[in-house]
Amino acid sequence: MPVVPIVPFKHFFCYDEVTDVVTQLVKSSPNLARLSSLGKSREGREIHLLTLTDFDTGKPEDKPAYLIHGNIHAAELSGTHAALYTARELLAGYPKSDILKRIAFYIVPRLNPDGAEFVVTTSGTVRSRTDRSEREPNTLYQEDVNGDGLILTMRQRHPDGPFVADPKDRRLLIRRQRDHKPPFYRTLPEGVIHQWDGTDNIRIEGRGFDWNRNWSYDWRPEPEQGGAGDFPFSEPEMRALADFIFARHNIFGVLGYHTGPASVLRPPSTGADKDLDAGDVKIMEELAQFGAKATKFPVHPVVKYHYADGRDINLRGHFHNFGYHHLGLYVFEFELGILRNSAGISTEEIFKTKSEEEREAHIRRMMKWWDRQKKREKVYLPWKRFSHPQLGKVEIGGLLVRHIAGRTLPDLKRVSKGTYEFTLEHAARHPYIQLEDVEVSAVGGNIYRIRARVANRGQFPTHISNKGRGLRRLKTVRLSFQPGPGVKLLSQTGHHDLGHLPGLTGSRRLEWFVSAPGKGRTLCDIHVAGGTGGNVSAKIVK
Ligand SMILES: [Zn+2]
Repeated sequence: MPVVPIVPFKHFFCYDEVTDVVTQLVKSSPNLARLSSLGKSREGREIHLLTLTDFDTGKPEDKPAYLIHGNIHAAELSGTHAALYTARELLAGYPKSDILKRIAFYIVPRLNPDGAEFVVTTSGTVRSRTDRSEREPNTLYQEDVNGDGLILTMRQRHPDGPFVADPKDRRLLIRRQRDHKPPFYRTLPEGVIHQWDGTDNIRIEGRGFDWNRNWSYDWRPEPEQGGAGDFPFSEPEMRALADFIFARHNIFGVLGYHTGPASVLRPPSTGADKDLDAGDVKIMEELAQFGAKATKFPVHPVVKYHYADGRDINLRGHFHNFGYHHLGLYVFEFELGILRNSAGISTEEIFKTKSEEEREAHIRRMMKWWDRQKKREKVYLPWKRFSHPQLGKVEIGGLLVRHIAGRTLPDLKRVSKGTYEFTLEHAARHPYIQLEDVEVSAVGGNIYRIRARVANRGQFPTHISNKGRGLRRLKTVRLSFQPGPGVKLLSQTGHHDLGHLPGLTGSRRLEWFVSAPGKGRTLCDIHVAGGTGGNVSAKIVK
């Protein structure tokens, strides 16, 4: 088997590079990996989907499956690297680890190829998508106005400017205080103002969308929930992922990659733990703690992921609540960390800050750390004078969003090892449907008794969470019994709906009687559709 190529952690990937990496991975492991598309992005890019499993031991749709997605938020490019790292390790770890024999992984390394491309190629700022089709007057749209290939920050002297140059680090801007002396600056993203009337009344970009607020559970329109979009799944990329999930009964776990201050996130994304089943919370917390040990990240339920002096947050239409309440699954997100984390400032420290001054001190610390690095990524570009066609004298420069929004790549590689370990632990708990103790005995005449045991030998029950038990989406274990040609079923029923089966010890013993004249016949074909536990089939011959 050819060597599985290493995913380089040298720079963030543009779309073509992601395509190249997934293509090379599949080429290296033709029996273990397939590349397809989840659908097309709004701008027409294929959303790459890797399906990893040992295809010689069964089709992915017949095995329990684990879904990973990254980079739903445009600037959170680290997610692509972490997802690709996991894909690579799964392939390279085979056959020493036999996980790919038993289960399938669906990996979408870049769920938002359009938004990510904008950030990778320009370092501009966008949450998921901006509506640029309906340009509004007096609104600034990001553009590389000075032709240096990047979209940075414009600062302009202005009597009402809320910023001053930081006296402790002239590269930075800090909040204006009453004892500060001019010059005062206002800041705008680098760009051009559409139909500007010449006033200071300038809005930034058009309508913004946050695709992690576009999911169906407890979705709320704007302004109740910023970024929500028009209706659940109004964004085609989110619809493509939802269609994919609902077409597959075998998905038992989901992991999403983001980049905020380093953290392992779990549900709920609204309310509190007490709104969820207590047993489910216990398992989610225990798994999240495993992730915390593997990455040295703290654990937060989404509602608690905020500054220490802030109130609990309620994110409507968020994937975590969707994953738990609508899919019945344990879903997790890793916030892979920001540049401040790489600079040695912990998430606890970041969240403990109470004032703008404390936050500014962290950025100064980050810059000092950056200055000490031997191999420095392009994090900051000096302010350069430029004559803006509309605004006149400005300076363009400052911090690069795409770099401060994530860790350094060597640091991300270390973290990706931990998130991979977590994935293996979560995935190893998959439900696992087996057909055991198949017996055929002649009971006289042409009559045969067939016995078999259907068991779940995986750790999770087939309904995964207690929440999932009642959801129609999570299929119960159903056995279909097809008598062979010329064989007559004598029992009252052939098919059985076994309901859900608990983990490890959950089994049902079944018995059928058939009449079958002659010898060497197929008595029956049995097919067990095991939902999250996978499917098994057997031909029973006398
Ligand atoms: Zn995010």
